[in-house]
Parts: sequence; C-alpha cells; structure tokens
Amino acid sequence: MKIAIIGAGAMGSLFGGYLSKSGNEVTLIDIWEEHVNKIKNKGLVIKKDDKEIHINPKAKTTSEDLDPVDLVIIFVKSIYTEDAVTQNLSIINEDTKVLSLQNGIGNIEKIAANVDKNNIIAGTTSHGATLLGPGRIKHAGEGDTHIGSIEGDNIQKVQKVKKVLEEAGFVTKTSDNVLKLIWDKLLINIGINALTAILKIKNGQIVEYKESEDLLKMLVNEAIDVAEKKGLKFNRSEIISKVKEVAEMTCENRSSMLQDVSNKRETEITTINGAIVKQAEEYSLDVPANKIVTKMIKTIEYHY
Ligand code: NAD
Repeated sequence: MKIAIIGAGAMGSLFGGYLSKSGNEVTLIDIWEEHVNKIKNKGLVIKKDDKEIHINPKAKTTSEDLDPVDLVIIFVKSIYTEDAVTQNLSIINEDTKVLSLQNGIGNIEKIAANVDKNNIIAGTTSHGATLLGPGRIKHAGEGDTHIGSIEGDNIQKVQKVKKVLEEAGFVTKTSDNVLKLIWDKLLINIGINALTAILKIKNGQIVEYKESEDLLKMLVNEAIDVAEKKGLKFNRSEIISKVKEVAEMTCENRSSMLQDVSNKRETEITTINGAIVKQAEEYSLDVPANKIVTKMIKTIEYHY
C-alpha cells in the first residue's frame, strides 16, 4: 500500500517505520528538516528495549512532488492538524483513506473540513514513543490500537486499514463508536497530562498522594459532566479507576505535555483540558479545575 505519514515525530516515525518494514511504500512527511535529512541519509532508527531496528522509509519536508496515496496517517500534534491537512491536499484524492490516531478532540472536524467524511478513519492507540533526536525514536510502550469510521458504512475501508496495521505488528481492533473511543482516551489525558506538566512529576507520582489524586478526580469528573451533556455515557467510578490505573501502569513515564513544557514546545492543552473548558461554556457548565490547569499551562508557554 502507498502510505504517507504527515508529522513523522515520535508516533509518526513509529507507525511509518513499522509500516515500511512490513513492505508498504511509506513516505514520512515532516517540516523538521534535520530529522528528514537524517532519515534520508542514514535511515530511521527505532530503539526498543536494548535492540535497535534500522529502517529506510522515504522522507520529505513537503508532499509537493508526491502522487496521491492510498492511506494518509496524520500524526502531528492536534494543534497543527489543520495545517497538516491543508498543506498536503495534493496527496489526498477521492480514494485516499485518512487516519487519525492523535490525542485530543477536534482532529476529526479539522480533517473533515477538507476530506470526504466517508474516507476518514479515526481512533486511538496505546503505543507510546519518544523522540531521541533527529532520525531516532524510542518505542516506549505497546498496547492496542482501536479504529472505526466516522460516517457511513465503511467497514471495508476500516478492515483494509486494520489489515495493513496488523501486518506491521500493531494489534488493531475495530469499533463502531469512534467518538466514545476518543473520549475514553481524552479522559486519561485530561487526568494525567496537565497535572504532570504543572507539577513536574512522572505519571505514577500523581497517585502517590491524596492531594494530587484528588486533582485528577476533579479534572476527570468535570470532563464527564461535559461528555454527559453531549449524550455520552460513562461510569464515573470505573473511568476514575481506569485513569488511576493508567497512571500506575505508566508510572515511570514523563507525559507528552511534561516533555513539551520541558522542551519549551507548544502543548496540546487547547485540545485536551482547554477543549473541556470551551465545550462547558456551550452548556453553561462550570469546570473550574480544567479552567485553572488550562490557564496555568498557557502561562507556562508564554514564559518560554
Ligand atoms: P511529536 O511532536 O513527536 O511529532 C509531531 C511531528 O509533527 C513533529 O516532528 C513536527 O515537526 C511535525 N509537524 C508539525 N507540523 C507539521 C506539518 N504542518 N506538516 C508536517 N509535519 C509537521 O508528537 P508525537 O508524540 O508523535 O504525537 C503525535 C500525536 O500522537 C499527538 O496528538 C499525541 O498526543 C499523540 N500520541 C502520542 C503518543 C506518544 O507516546 N508520543 C501516544 C499516543 C498518541
């Protein structure tokens, strides 16, 4: 299959690397020139445990001279989704499937502004990856990937994408409720990311003390209030236990938002806790904990 990955950072390189290794014609597209040049000249290195896998996908800083592909995977941070789509419309035709496994909400809407909804596949992944430097990433954690169509009866398209992901080694499950999938993952990010970034602690440290665990609960409970207004149903105590469990299971991880603030990069706060604040306004709901963490992260960003 001809595949283009738009945004070939940690996750884009992970998926693009393994999809290339399993025999697909993969092009990594990333605006980070140094990273692209390293992959072009020396190949991509994926570090996993104490092994290093060397792969040679194509890499480019733009899609200018590329023909339309069968599958586009968007893996920029959610704050750049709109740019990533509009800058690469020439590789998306009426047969191109566009997949997003990004965190945060709003990605589907931004893709759908330019791509036929029948061709959009979305979902979540529990794989984890970290950028080690240009041309090098670490495969930090494994887990399932869940995908589904956002509109219409696209079972065949979804199955094709599942097959290609599975052949590349990504255990993939299909779902007929993509919105629920995205919110399940969102609630985990809501409870963990901003707190770890503000408090400068690893994921597991949130649940070591009652005070920080209380903050996690407040953030997640407010988000569930919003989700319920949207017609989504969650079992509160189950979800809170799940978020705590993820913090424990990933206890040694530094969340992506903590990594972003440490590296003075713009975070995904506006599409995670900030998105809850925005949606709460539409329902006249008060979400003070999410408001505070959003304003704190924005302030940290202003002071870079
Ligand atoms: P990252 O910052 O490592 O990579 C994003 C890449 O996108 C960067 O290399 C950047 O140069 C590139 N980019 C930005 N704008 C671009 C554009 N207009 N065109 C092309 N490239 C562009 O981010 P990541 O950690 O790989 O995360 C990507 C998404 O996946 C996020 O939504 C994140 O929340 C989600 N996610 C990450 C993990 C993880 O473990 N890292 C796990 C699950 C989901």
